[in-house]
Amino acid sequence: MTVERLYCRPAPPAELLIRGVHVLDPRTGIDAAHDVLVRDGEIAQLGSPGSLELPEGVELVDGAGCHLFPGFVDPHVHLRTPGQEHKEDLGSGTRAAAAGGFVAVVAMPNTAPTVDDASVLGALREAARRDARVPTGFMASVTRGLAGEALTEMAELRAEGALGFTDDGKPVWRAAVLRRALQYQKLCGGVIALHEEDPSLSGAGVMHEGEISARLGLAGIPSISESTLIARDAAIAGYEDGRIHVQHLSAAESVEAVAEAKARGVRITAEVSPHHLILTHEAILESLDTRLKMNPPLRGQRDRKALIEALRDGTIDCIATDHAPHAREEKEVPFEEAPMGTTGLETAFSSVYSELVRPGVLELGLVVERLSGGAPLLDLPTPLIAVGEPADLCLVDLEATWEVGEAGYESRSENCCFAGRTLHGKVLMTVAAGMVAYREPVSSGGQRPVTSSGGRVRR
Ligand SMILES: [Zn+2]
Repeated sequence: MTVERLYCRPAPPAELLIRGVHVLDPRTGIDAAHDVLVRDGEIAQLGSPGSLELPEGVELVDGAGCHLFPGFVDPHVHLRTPGQEHKEDLGSGTRAAAAGGFVAVVAMPNTAPTVDDASVLGALREAARRDARVPTGFMASVTRGLAGEALTEMAELRAEGALGFTDDGKPVWRAAVLRRALQYQKLCGGVIALHEEDPSLSGAGVMHEGEISARLGLAGIPSISESTLIARDAAIAGYEDGRIHVQHLSAAESVEAVAEAKARGVRITAEVSPHHLILTHEAILESLDTRLKMNPPLRGQRDRKALIEALRDGTIDCIATDHAPHAREEKEVPFEEAPMGTTGLETAFSSVYSELVRPGVLELGLVVERLSGGAPLLDLPTPLIAVGEPADLCLVDLEATWEVGEAGYESRSENCCFAGRTLHGKVLMTVAAGMVAYREPVSSGGQRPVTSSGGRVRR
């Protein structure tokens, strides 16, 4: 299956009648109970609850008490293939995505080897057609081997299916290299996504530079290592009239830099991760848990509040997980030595819903919209709940609670910064590109939890 630079293994098209479900799609303005009929993988009919007949051969899903959202799109995941399949691969990573309600994900190119030439990209595309549970797109690197010097063959990579370009994990450190990449972008298209970090400022830092790093005696990464490079790159993008997307914003100063650039008319967009919206560096003081070590680091309360406000006012366009799996033994080392990163696909919606929507900080509709806000930034179709649209859907029980990690993970790795937390909101079913990609596992009674014959589990 192929949808405009997204690749996925084929499956039979969904035939479903989801009855009496609360449909919430902020883009189409639907916020009410409906019957939703999916035929041949497409949304065929919407009707008032109980109004639609069950056609022969169509599965009845009891949606009472549940919400149906347009599926989520993650513009930033690490699937670790090729080269580090002990952490994740296309199958496990996209199963984790489907379990989190995602209907499309975009994989970063900092693999081994780097996705910097057409043959590596071509092999990935074929692997996704075999193994990916949800449509998967691939970014190629801006520079060869992520070395920050020679540009990749951007036009050739675009022709081979690259969605865009990023050296994620590293900044495009030389200004002239970014400038030239933006000049090529005019010819071949594709957004350039930027990991913004000035290595001369971040140095050997392992956490946010502030009072906590001082108390722990750990080397810090200052906020300005991010914000100063954003300001520089926004200036270059503005000069070249190029299009840039800033990855994983973490600091209040970075929000200011993006807002200023947007106000000047620079074509700049930005993403934020659930962990930066929810956690701060204070969590590290309590536990020195290596699952809380990521790049950019968890910062202070002021930063967290600025990120939330920016997500609300649109300065930040979307939520992206930066799902970064690492093997257990790699994380079971002292904090200073552990690799950076947390998994996030399976907890993205539930963590934001539990920690920000239920307490009244963010509106549910806004969060649902931002969880697929990455699609247009990467020129991908935006999931919509409307007749005639492909079924890209996520069925959620907002009242269900679950403990993160208790039942294991779909991801091959378990380095989740929310492990052990009890979260509200459970994805029961995901339909991606018209195919059922995920169902909550069969409960102990042996019945599927969401079909007409079974009660839902863990209510
Ligand atoms: Zn990054």
